[in-house]
Amino acid sequence: MTRMASSEIDALTQALARLPGLGPRSARRAVLHLLKKREAALGPLLRALEVVSEKLATCSTCGNVDTSDPCQICADPRRDTRMLCVVEEVADLWALDRSRLFPGRYHVLGGRLSALEGVRPEDLAIDTLIQRVGAGGIEEVVLAMNATLEGQTTAHYLAERLEKFPIRLTQLAHGLPVGGELDYLDEGTLAQALRARRPVS
Ligand SMILES: [Zn+2]
Repeated sequence: MTRMASSEIDALTQALARLPGLGPRSARRAVLHLLKKREAALGPLLRALEVVSEKLATCSTCGNVDTSDPCQICADPRRDTRMLCVVEEVADLWALDRSRLFPGRYHVLGGRLSALEGVRPEDLAIDTLIQRVGAGGIEEVVLAMNATLEGQTTAHYLAERLEKFPIRLTQLAHGLPVGGELDYLDEGTLAQALRARRPVS
């Protein structure tokens, strides 16, 4: 069988094809572009990958993934330290922060409670959340779980654990599509859900 490309180029194509949102066809197009634009595209991509790979860190305060610990958000003095938004995954944090409507900081749980998948409270960053809130200075905690059954179970559990603190506990407004994952929502919908957040009942 004749091959169109060397095994090295094949390996690159396959690696790209495994990325979310790509696929064999997009990967081939991307590789072809990189090969044709070595100076303008391949070089900068290679350097960016190297730098990020070298500096990759998980923020020990909030669980965000960044190139520094504390992350950019936790280190930013303009952030309102009185507001904390709790999310399931880093992708949710990024989605919410893209909306630029939340002035506070975040806390990434690293998943959601799931009896089916055997995810228990101790598997998530819940103790560190309780510690952060317990340390004081936080006036509002926004529970920004996904509108899935497991997301809502998690929000319920957190509401119980946080009940004892003198804080305002809110959650994203309805209007989130049921089963909706934050990361897939357009920014307008997400911004609306955040703006119209309501107290946890
Ligand atoms: Zn952080």
